[in-house]
Amino acid sequence: MANVADTKLYDILGVPPGASENELKKAYRKLAKEYHPDKNPNAGDKFKEISFAYEVLSNPEKRELYDRYGEQGLREGSGGGSGMDDIFSHIFGGGLFSFMGNQNRSRNGRRRGEDMMHPLKVSLEDLYNGKTTKLQLSKNVLCSACSGQGGKTGAVQKCSACRGRGVRIMIRQLAPGMVQQMQSVCSDCNGEGEVINEKDRCKKCEGKKVIKEVKILEVHVDKGMKHGQRITFTGEADQAPGVEPGDIVLLLQEKEHEAFQRDGNDLHMTHKIGLVEALCGFQFTFKHLDARQIVVKYPPGKVIEPGCVRVVRGEGMPQYRNPFEKGDLYIKFDVQFPENNWISPEKLSELEDLLPARPEVPSVIGDTEEVDLQEFDSTRGPAGGQRREAYNDSSDEESSHHGPGVQCAHQ
Ligand SMILES: [Zn+2]
Ligand SMILES: [Zn+2]
Repeated sequence: MANVADTKLYDILGVPPGASENELKKAYRKLAKEYHPDKNPNAGDKFKEISFAYEVLSNPEKRELYDRYGEQGLREGSGGGSGMDDIFSHIFGGGLFSFMGNQNRSRNGRRRGEDMMHPLKVSLEDLYNGKTTKLQLSKNVLCSACSGQGGKTGAVQKCSACRGRGVRIMIRQLAPGMVQQMQSVCSDCNGEGEVINEKDRCKKCEGKKVIKEVKILEVHVDKGMKHGQRITFTGEADQAPGVEPGDIVLLLQEKEHEAFQRDGNDLHMTHKIGLVEALCGFQFTFKHLDARQIVVKYPPGKVIEPGCVRVVRGEGMPQYRNPFEKGDLYIKFDVQFPENNWISPEKLSELEDLLPARPEVPSVIGDTEEVDLQEFDSTRGPAGGQRREAYNDSSDEESSHHGPGVQCAHQ
């Protein structure tokens, strides 16, 4: 099972788990400045922690490992490079086990049950507008009939066969002076360590102490929440006798949107316009995430170059916990040029008179050779690929002539 509950590295940088690359970079720069050993010699290992957290989170592969599998993912993914263990122990505590142990012990020292993680898919609209949704789940609760004891008071007895340990140890002699210890689950109590007298066994839970219950949680997705952000319901996970229940943690999963891409609090979209709009101004309408019809106007006389980006301030995502402040909306323009021969040659020369004048062709002295300019698809196309290879080959040979080992170059 993936351990998704780990956000320690994000906490170090003070950013939410869904933070964008930009947010990470900003947070890192600010902290690194503040805690740099030159400036702040008393900050101890803080600078190391910050650097390590940023190193992991700024690397998409490492970040994914960490988001999915937590600390363990990083440890296994890192292949145990030298020096890695120190910083791991420093940040996560002495080794994996103590790290997990800390998590599973509550403040008052009672054993703590495991947290239950659930992904919660949300649309970009939900994250823009906020949403309240009901989530139904089935969980274990202490049996009310026996108060989680499994039977009448005193009915539960420690298993005598295993002395309450749930396992029995058998010693087998392999050879004189050589014994093997074997552990097996106690068959009298099925590893429970206790037995309940049949007639005193609780009818409702059949001695299991807990029963399944359907629970409905009301989930508030707040405006501006991000992918990877967690909504925690404290103590709502499975109950068990003598154990403080863990939390139910909902992990937000932002669904892809067909029109907008999100980067932190900013939104990005692409809009297609024609050549006439690129040169003569335009107006278009799009539906925003809250269903408003937004009209975008660009006046005649201002030019849009193919692939350029314009920004609409304040039309991005609302900020989490400060939803009246919004990010920006970036619109990238895809300019559609007309087809070949879209206009008659006479009209074309009329058009040329209207367009900015072409540069004067300098007169060339000496021999010239006229070549043919052909259509070419840069994404595929055999001619292009072969050319490039040939070019690389010759440049490799070229460079190998300069160094030693010329013989090795032609194997
Ligand atoms: Zn019961
Ligand atoms: Zn037993």
